[in-house]
Parts: sequence; C-alpha cells; structure tokens
Amino acid sequence: MKYLSGKEKEEAKNFMDLAAIVANGSSCLRTKCGSVIVKDIEVIGYGFNSPPGNKRLEKCLKDDLPDGFKSDKTCCIHAEERAIMLALRKDPQGITLLGSRLYFIRLDEKGEKTFAGKPYCTICSKMALDVGISEFTLWHEEGICVYGTEEYNQLSFGYKR
Ligand SMILES: [Zn+2]
Ligand SMILES: [Zn+2]
Repeated sequence: MKYLSGKEKEEAKNFMDLAAIVANGSSCLRTKCGSVIVKDIEVIGYGFNSPPGNKRLEKCLKDDLPDGFKSDKTCCIHAEERAIMLALRKDPQGITLLGSRLYFIRLDEKGEKTFAGKPYCTICSKMALDVGISEFTLWHEEGICVYGTEEYNQLSFGYKR
C-alpha cells in the first residue's frame, strides 16, 4: 500500500469526491457508500450500495438476522460490486477492468465523507481481484491510500475485529 501525494493525490481526491456524489443515490437505511472504477483517468464503472434492484426497504434486513447467520449480513449489494457489474455491462469482455483502480468511500449520516477502517470485505476484495482490477483505494486519516488488489484481499482475509 502507498499513500498518494502531490498531483496523484489531487487526482485521486477528485475521484473520491465523485464516489461520494454517487453514494448519495443509495437507498440503504444503514450507510451510504459509493465506488468508482477508473482506467487511464476515465471512469469505467460506478455504483452505490443498496438492496437488490435498488429497492427501498422499510427496515434493514440486518436487524432481524438470527445470531450466527452464516452469509453476508448486509442488506445490500455493495457499491464496489455494483461498480464492477456496471463496468462489465459496458464491456462484457472486461478488458477495460484490467489494470484499473477502484475508489471506495462511505458517508456519515450528514452525507459527509468518512475515513475507512481497515480492509475487511472479502466479497469485494475477491471480486476486484478476480476481474483484474489492480488497485483498491480507501480514504484513511493519514490520506488517500492505494492497495494492490492482491494485498487488499489478503488484508481483508486477515481482518480481526
Ligand atoms: Zn444496506
Ligand atoms: Zn464489499
């Protein structure tokens, strides 16, 4: 992983801001997240989290899950998954995804960007790795941090609460 500086950081900040705008479309009752995928400064995919079909639920499913529920506990398709699916709709061969960079941001209740915690979502880390995205970008207190997708996947699997 590396923290960006200078011109690279400015450029990345613009894409983070764009991801935050995308996040506003989310209908999730819990958290709004956004993601954009960029290849050679072109946005090739974007998405926000929300329940399948972008439905608006009365109540988050997560609230009623039994203890020990085995699978992904979010009610939503994740923002990163949506961004990848959109990129694949536009380019079913997925060539544009190869070597691309994914940006992820989560908003707080006021709609402001928040710092991400450590990588933990193995659903998205595996998917990003599988389609050939080369970098995964988060916003930390220390700045904008770029992880290699392989590294991001390993860190996600090593996540401890
Ligand atoms: Zn949700
Ligand atoms: Zn995820």
